[in-house]
Amino acid sequence: MHTVSQLIDQFIPEHYDLSLTLEREARRFSGIVTIQGTSQANARHIVLHSKDLAIESVTLDGRSAEFASSDNDELFITQSDFQGGKHTLVIGFAGQISDAMHGLYPCYYEHDGIKKELLATQFESHHAREVFPCIDEPAAKATFDVTLTTEKDITVLGNMPVVSQVVSDAHLITTFDRTPRMSTYLLAWTTGELHRKTATTKSGAEVNIWATPAQPAESLDFALDIATRTIDFFDEYFDTPYPLPKSDHVALPDFSSGAMENWGLITYREIALLADPATTSIASKHYIATVIAHELSHQWFGNLVTMQWWNNLWLNESFATLMEYIAVDALHPEWNVWLDFATMESIAALRRDSIDGVQAVQVAVNHPDEISTLFDGAIVYAKGARLLRMLQQYIGHEAFQTGLKTYFKSHAYSNTIGDNLWQALGEASGKDITAFMNTWISQPGYPVLSVSKQGDQITLSQQQFFTGPHQPSHKLWPIPLESPCSEMPELLSTKTETITRHHQTPLRFNVGDTAHFITHYSDELLAKLIDEVREGKLSPLDRLQLLHEQTLLARGGVISSATLLPLLDAYKHEQTEAVWDIIGIAISELKKFVETDAVAEKQLRTFTANLARNEYTRLGWTAKPNETEQDTKLRANIIGLMIYGEDSDAIATALSTYENTPIEKLDPELRGLIISAAVRHGKDATIIDSLLKQYQASSSAELQQDIACGLTSTKDTVAIEKLLSTLTNSSIIRAQDTGRWYVWLLRNRDGRSLAWQWVRDNWSWIEKTFAGDKSYDDYPRYSAGVLSTKAQLDEYRQFFTPLSEVPSLTRVIAIGIVEIEGRVNLIEHDGQAVRDALAKL
Ligand SMILES: [Zn+2]
Repeated sequence: MHTVSQLIDQFIPEHYDLSLTLEREARRFSGIVTIQGTSQANARHIVLHSKDLAIESVTLDGRSAEFASSDNDELFITQSDFQGGKHTLVIGFAGQISDAMHGLYPCYYEHDGIKKELLATQFESHHAREVFPCIDEPAAKATFDVTLTTEKDITVLGNMPVVSQVVSDAHLITTFDRTPRMSTYLLAWTTGELHRKTATTKSGAEVNIWATPAQPAESLDFALDIATRTIDFFDEYFDTPYPLPKSDHVALPDFSSGAMENWGLITYREIALLADPATTSIASKHYIATVIAHELSHQWFGNLVTMQWWNNLWLNESFATLMEYIAVDALHPEWNVWLDFATMESIAALRRDSIDGVQAVQVAVNHPDEISTLFDGAIVYAKGARLLRMLQQYIGHEAFQTGLKTYFKSHAYSNTIGDNLWQALGEASGKDITAFMNTWISQPGYPVLSVSKQGDQITLSQQQFFTGPHQPSHKLWPIPLESPCSEMPELLSTKTETITRHHQTPLRFNVGDTAHFITHYSDELLAKLIDEVREGKLSPLDRLQLLHEQTLLARGGVISSATLLPLLDAYKHEQTEAVWDIIGIAISELKKFVETDAVAEKQLRTFTANLARNEYTRLGWTAKPNETEQDTKLRANIIGLMIYGEDSDAIATALSTYENTPIEKLDPELRGLIISAAVRHGKDATIIDSLLKQYQASSSAELQQDIACGLTSTKDTVAIEKLLSTLTNSSIIRAQDTGRWYVWLLRNRDGRSLAWQWVRDNWSWIEKTFAGDKSYDDYPRYSAGVLSTKAQLDEYRQFFTPLSEVPSLTRVIAIGIVEIEGRVNLIEHDGQAVRDALAKL
């Protein structure tokens, strides 16, 4: 890919005066922007970003100017006597509103039987240039005065509070207060019919949660409480007050990613913001809280202090991912969110980062077009967050917080690189953070620490951990051992080390699961740990970590997958929900070995039901008065495993509950499972059509998600074909949700080959719909996460290899091939042993 020079090198904007007229029904907009700035002394012209805009007029310092558009979204402006220095540009322009979900785009919804629309924006990473000419780079911070002309009788939101609204004929003219110095990718507007709930933070900032009238008012309350208290928390934690007078949060019916941290006007998918008390599960509330905390942390880290260039975007996202847990833990300590960190972030990071060819956390970015090609969420968000957490543990929480306070004070309203943060944290802790962190962020992968014991001699050694085929590696990392045994060193930076142990403190590593490595204990040490699991001596986090690390070691061929069966048996008295998440994952790991062997599959199902039976008996189907949220969430896990285990009581109860309860009255915790069981095991021939109808009629994104989960679990080939043919119909399934439907059908063994065929048959539609979008590479990624036979590997190679020339797909396809190959080899290598072990149970 070619390198594009950064336009801020030739022209530094200071202030924009932007006036836009939005013609929603005509699907067009027009505007005038006045830009004040300074061009370099020897400049011959000014170059701005402008993409797909019709430029109608340009004046430079009050006189008309020559202008020309070039490739690379650039607009050249000059005059015959042009000289560098301070300039004022006035540009008239117009553009189209399209469905692409970036730039300026419509969102569709229905209320009281009437089809309606909002207009919204999405500018990250470089889509502001699709709406007005500007220097569209994060370092080009400027102030903005914005005026929007829209239809009347609607709500008009921008980054700043409204200073005036005037109605003129059929139009509403809204002027916003001037913004502080900020980057273009953080500008945003939303217009349309919206209702809200409002609160005020302790420091006086106004917080509003907004949604379309199709959403009930009560569904805004939960987000309002979380957002207000999160700002209070960050005000104190960062010791820098929330930088703007207000904080708007808007739920958009169509939105490509989960949420976007636009300064003062955060936009969300409806499912990531709205919690209707009647239909929202506990897990959804936790999800909403973490998304809000994530976006709010960006209001400081990302918006107030912004990366110099996109190569440091990982720092924004890793930081926000860590802060979402720190904030939610402070607000709701009883949720035990660090267990969620382990089951969500750690697993995503450890799995992805074990594949040869995966990217490092920090990689070079020449052009923002490359961002979607290089920013793998499991690495940039999850691994990055794990690395920052490792650093927080390594220097101590207090030094971490002190360093951040200094960082915000020194760099507010300006731009930074990663080293600025390392420096602030280094000064606060007195440690050399730059060298330590740069090894971790620049090397892909992570080490497995092998531990063995001979008498009082303990040998530690590290080597890179892989799942699947790989090149030999000699990489080393400075590993914070986090051992309770005081005789162990703080860091292991060499390949191997032998330590004499004089006393009997527990020999464990990475306690708290805060560092980015896994441990391979010798058989003797592992047996002792498993005994401790049985005796209930380890903490929930320790139990979870042990099982998960063994699952990874099995994936990597370090231990046999068959050993997971006796290990799982040690967990049958487990009562912690997050640990059961990992038990479920370990069972899923085993499913691939039995898919072509009906007897072995039945044995795995029976094993699963037997494992979950203690908890099934304890929890039952209905919530006890005053039971813990933990137990309420766990019930869904357990019932899910019992249904997988084809327990007759669990299936019969699911079916009768479905028959006797209207779908919107089903327990939100169990709804998805009950619908799935009815689809998979019920006798109602019309269920697919009636559920699809309810899916279409519902304005609850969460209910829709559960219906989709149910529908995609069908065994019926005709139904699967019907669902697949619906995927391209965005009037039924929104484009934002297509990927989820696809991956669920693919994970369903009975839907897999048809879904895999669908993605290949419909590639041109996928390309047309998603090519400009971050979700484009989901399709090869999801496919690689599931396909598991030699034939599918060949088909994947054959189909995707020619597509590797598309820059945003190159890496995901290369890794996808390694991932499937690893799975195929593992099934061949461990399959018989797993089936033999099942037969002996
Ligand atoms: Zn983010």
